[in-house]
Amino acid sequence: MPSYDLVCQSCGHKFSIFCTISQKDQQSCPICGGDQIKQRFTTVNVMGSSGDKGSQGAPNSAPRGFG
Ligand SMILES: [Zn+2]
Repeated sequence: MPSYDLVCQSCGHKFSIFCTISQKDQQSCPICGGDQIKQRFTTVNVMGSSGDKGSQGAPNSAPRGFG
């Protein structure tokens, strides 16, 4: 279950929740009860998991000239 960093637009309270992505939009501020909740986009630590076997062979596709 993913976690989301949210911030209340009413009082500025920042909090994190563990819920599904659909429940994320139904949260209300635990302090003031406001429903103007926005998701905070913080730096997410993507690395750190066990070694993956996927090869990162991105095709080097150069954009064609704009005509
Ligand atoms: Zn609030």
